[in-house]
Amino acid sequence: MRYFKLLVLVFCISACSGPKKGWVHTNHEYLKPVDTKTKPIEYQIVKTYNIDSVGVTNNFPSARINDFTKLNDSTFRATINPENTPINPSPWYAFKIWSKTKRTINLELHYAEHKHRYNPKISMDGENWTSLDTSLIELDNNDTHAMISLNLSSDTLWVAAQEIQDTKRVGAWVNSFGRNEAVSIDVIGKSALGRPLYFMNISKGNDKKKPTIVILSRQHPPEVTGYFAMQSFVERIINDGATNGFLEKYRVLVYPLLNPDGVDLGHYRHSTGGVDLNRDWSEYNQPEIEQVTRHIVNEVTINKNNVVLGLDFHSTYHDVYYTPDESVKRKIPDFTQKWLESIRLELNLDDINEQPGAVMRPTSSGWFNKQFGATGITYEIGDDTPRDFIKQKGDVSAKAMMDYFLND
Ligand SMILES: [Zn+2]
Repeated sequence: MRYFKLLVLVFCISACSGPKKGWVHTNHEYLKPVDTKTKPIEYQIVKTYNIDSVGVTNNFPSARINDFTKLNDSTFRATINPENTPINPSPWYAFKIWSKTKRTINLELHYAEHKHRYNPKISMDGENWTSLDTSLIELDNNDTHAMISLNLSSDTLWVAAQEIQDTKRVGAWVNSFGRNEAVSIDVIGKSALGRPLYFMNISKGNDKKKPTIVILSRQHPPEVTGYFAMQSFVERIINDGATNGFLEKYRVLVYPLLNPDGVDLGHYRHSTGGVDLNRDWSEYNQPEIEQVTRHIVNEVTINKNNVVLGLDFHSTYHDVYYTPDESVKRKIPDFTQKWLESIRLELNLDDINEQPGAVMRPTSSGWFNKQFGATGITYEIGDDTPRDFIKQKGDVSAKAMMDYFLND
């Protein structure tokens, strides 16, 4: 008998030591399934163009121009194509431009098939950005191109659809919390092309048995304003949560960059697998989603955490919260209403834009609900929402969330 127990023990040491790495992914059912098998993409040719005195390059992470030509003495054309089609209309571009002699040029942003969406941001150093004055932007009748006026000199001018937040910059932000005792940082895997999938575990003391909140960002590369919102949200949790008791009771898992390949390749929306990652939360065909979901499930299983909330940060044309409709069963049914009302009051707004989330399709918010019975919310920020308001709203939203859970 004793021998038998020993055998069981030995067997268990080799086989029962925590959930095995191969968590078997659950294929959840959705009314509108999406095929997320890898599709081909077209890589842009990385090149520096020199025409007359003007130089242009896409040789840096997050850049995108597919061609550069001269239309007349003062006018040039930058052609911008998506990574593959069909694709959402979010034509991203980014390039550096200069001229040996000081001059003003007209530059046509020429889109293969989509309308102009992002008014240019400009920078002299790639870090500090301003919006190009709207008087220098002219749209044609159907917006399939924009004509912009640029003052060039031998100093390199950065021009981009939104501020550049590439993998290296996200990594620097993550690493800036390396010495914070409530934060542990890690790389949990690699994208299809080998870029890091960053992870932050925010918690004070033991992780075990704490209810857990999961935060995601940048499934869609151009959605930089959503990323800014995620940053201020997470920073508020780190700053206040260690002293207000929140991080003693709760655990927060942050995956700040789910699509590093798409971000560094200047994609409109997809991964290098040519797929919208926020449709792969059922089939897990793409390595980024396969690894992040595995990591979330393994972490919360090992630590017996109850996932109560998943927040996925995105950008669209305006600010909106996509929330589960009343018919969706979830562990904290009163959260959404109470949370949004606190945010509204704190920001002194007449109204908060809330829409029913897309539970029809295999998105992250549906997955949080189907996998854990958690509330899944897509936190969307407008492309043009003022940056200081994004920060304030992220800050207020994090504070309201902590207040809800501390009073729970
Ligand atoms: Zn998005």
